[in-house]
Amino acid sequence: MSPRMNRRLDDFTQSDLRAMTRACRAVGGINLAQGLSDLPTHPLVQEGAIEAIRAHHSTYSPQEGIPELREAIARKMRADNRLACDPETEVVVTAGATGGFTAAAMALLDPGDEMILFEPYYPYHRNALIGLGAAPIAVRMQGDRCAIDDDALAAAVTDRTKAIVVCNPANPPGKVFRRDELERIARLCVERDLFAITDEIYEYYLYDGNEHVSLATLPGMRERTITISGFSKTFRITGWRLGYVVAVPEIARRIGVVNDAFYVCAPTPLQYGAARGLGVGRSYYVELRESYQRKRDLLARAVEAAGMRPLIPEGCYYLMAEVSRLGWGDARTAARKLLDTAGVAAVPGRAFYDGDEGDRWLRFCFAKEDAVLEEAARRLERVGRM
Ligand code: PLP
Repeated sequence: MSPRMNRRLDDFTQSDLRAMTRACRAVGGINLAQGLSDLPTHPLVQEGAIEAIRAHHSTYSPQEGIPELREAIARKMRADNRLACDPETEVVVTAGATGGFTAAAMALLDPGDEMILFEPYYPYHRNALIGLGAAPIAVRMQGDRCAIDDDALAAAVTDRTKAIVVCNPANPPGKVFRRDELERIARLCVERDLFAITDEIYEYYLYDGNEHVSLATLPGMRERTITISGFSKTFRITGWRLGYVVAVPEIARRIGVVNDAFYVCAPTPLQYGAARGLGVGRSYYVELRESYQRKRDLLARAVEAAGMRPLIPEGCYYLMAEVSRLGWGDARTAARKLLDTAGVAAVPGRAFYDGDEGDRWLRFCFAKEDAVLEEAARRLERVGRM
């Protein structure tokens, strides 16, 4: 006998991603399963943090983050997201976007409350909600363009619904929400008096001229939206654990309190690095889009040549591929076989869906050095010739 642990956690979905990463390591394969970039961090960001460490900025920061970073975030929000916010009262620096999401959800939720996620969803959102005793309610996006089914969305709202989560651009399908779709979501939030939590961590990873629109800028949404983003992807510093939340002062204050209770603050010297990084020129973001669009296209061609059907992402750095044409069975079996035959790891889609739709899909990450991605592409193309 041993004391009982938190049973809610039995429902967490992580195992496939970790299992594929472990299996990939065991065979020395190319890991396109995990969503992290192995490309270098911008020198400005590195230098900002190194100087802060040398200057002994090593104690706790204010719970809402250092003023330099909050001011830089407010400037960035105004310039890039068209969202004016007060760095003193409306910005909280968090332990990654993940810490921001947890703090935001905790600030809003009572046990038993519901939050709507668009499916395929980012499993960390679902897990955080389950961990907090809330119910994630999945609303399936429709077709290859991942359209929002307005009727299904409206029907999913109940008396317990607290918020709609909008991951934009969306991991895993790479959908970029168009303004008219966001307007319809906004109208529903206003009509049914709901909050919205956005996750905009891939806001700079946009292809084919797609534009990023922040939900908080739409009519009626400023006071009910918690905008979350972070630096993990933009500056390729996933291990630094730096993100942020923007919300009206009443909400931001609560999120700051939760942030303090669980994390105290985000890593102080690294906050200086991110503040410095926000001064990079426009060309950094242009180059990012162009180079990742090339990576996307390379992977899409290879996945197609391997015999799968790729969904071409409009944003993010993932590509979903439908596996049925391979004739290798469900996605979990196909992922294993792909690793065994080609030495390339992808995540089976079960992680992103409630039901068995995930058995049709694999997710590949293309945030890799060109040489690594080219080798993965060669291996995938070989599968098609087998
Ligand atoms: N949000 C989404 C949609 C992600 O895909 C990821 C990482 O894969 C994160 C958040 C993690 O962000 P952070 O490293 O800032 O916690």
